[in-house]
Amino acid sequence: MQKERVIIIGSGPAGLSAALYTARAQLNPLVIAGTMIGGQIAITYEIENYPGYFSKEKTPTGPELVETMQMQAEHFGARLAYDEVVEVDFSKGSPFTVKTYSSEYLADAVIVSVGASPRHLNVPGEEAFIGRGVSYCGTCDGFFFRGKDVVVVGGGDSALEEGIFLTRFANKVEVIHRRDELRAGPTLKRRAFQNEKMSFIWDTVVDEIIGNGTVNSVNVTNRRTGESGILKTDGVFIFIGHYPNSKFLEGQLALDEHGYIIADKLMRTNVPGVFAAGEIQDPVFRQVATSVGQGAAAAIQLERWLSDQE
Ligand code: NAP
Repeated sequence: MQKERVIIIGSGPAGLSAALYTARAQLNPLVIAGTMIGGQIAITYEIENYPGYFSKEKTPTGPELVETMQMQAEHFGARLAYDEVVEVDFSKGSPFTVKTYSSEYLADAVIVSVGASPRHLNVPGEEAFIGRGVSYCGTCDGFFFRGKDVVVVGGGDSALEEGIFLTRFANKVEVIHRRDELRAGPTLKRRAFQNEKMSFIWDTVVDEIIGNGTVNSVNVTNRRTGESGILKTDGVFIFIGHYPNSKFLEGQLALDEHGYIIADKLMRTNVPGVFAAGEIQDPVFRQVATSVGQGAAAAIQLERWLSDQE
């Protein structure tokens, strides 16, 4: 079993920020990076609202920001393991056991920053057509829909931001929203309403995704009138929120009823020596800027906690 001082689980903005701070505190952190370095920003096309990281000539992309964050953390001594945590044992206190697919570690202190994943509609046809017309990432898959018609499901910031992005490729982007009022903020709403390729289908839900090899239509129902019908489309992009990636933490850390880690203002979980940062403990803000701040705060608290133990 490999002994570590600090393990950071997850490599999104919170994890990479915690890695930078713990590395600069000479704690030689190991980041278990998970399936995708950078988490959700790695698949975000443009980042316009991360302060200090902007250019009028070219809006920086998510992958560029991830690359810089990783380079900065590694420059100061953080190490990244390209592996995924499958099990933890926090029950006996520090040192904590962290098992990945290929290794087993003991860590004096842990920061959990595993983020969240896109929620599924859970309708017939959805799972079967993932990668064949059903997508949860416009940035990743938009290119495959050049000159095609797509629908976007959802009414929040993600649905509009990704929908606007998809108009670069698609012929037509129809947003299907279950209410007649968008949840998204005013800037994105204005941009979406002004975009000639975008249109809205209100008060409507998708009941089924239909296709033959690839998606060719969706079955929709208007919630006000009860009327159902078939809408032809080549792609279904689903942006209806996220769920926390906390399955492996059940029984190990206190979670709320939705599965988010319960952490206090000092980023402490209910287990002394285990801290949490980013979207895994924050269903409210979910911004790169807030996650980075939480990662830094968790790292500072961890350093203080380790000092107190000595
Ligand atoms: P969200 O704000 O939770 O919006 C989810 C949308 O999906 C809502 O419109 C919701 O409808 C709809 N929805 C939920 N479950 C559904 C279902 N089963 N069937 C159909 N529709 C369903 O999630 P988000 O858009 O991913 O945004 C998450 C957070 O990130 C927010 O805080 C957002 O502000 C932030 N964000 C910010 C930016 C930006 O600033 N540029 C970009 C992306 C995200 P209802 O409205 O009826 O509930």
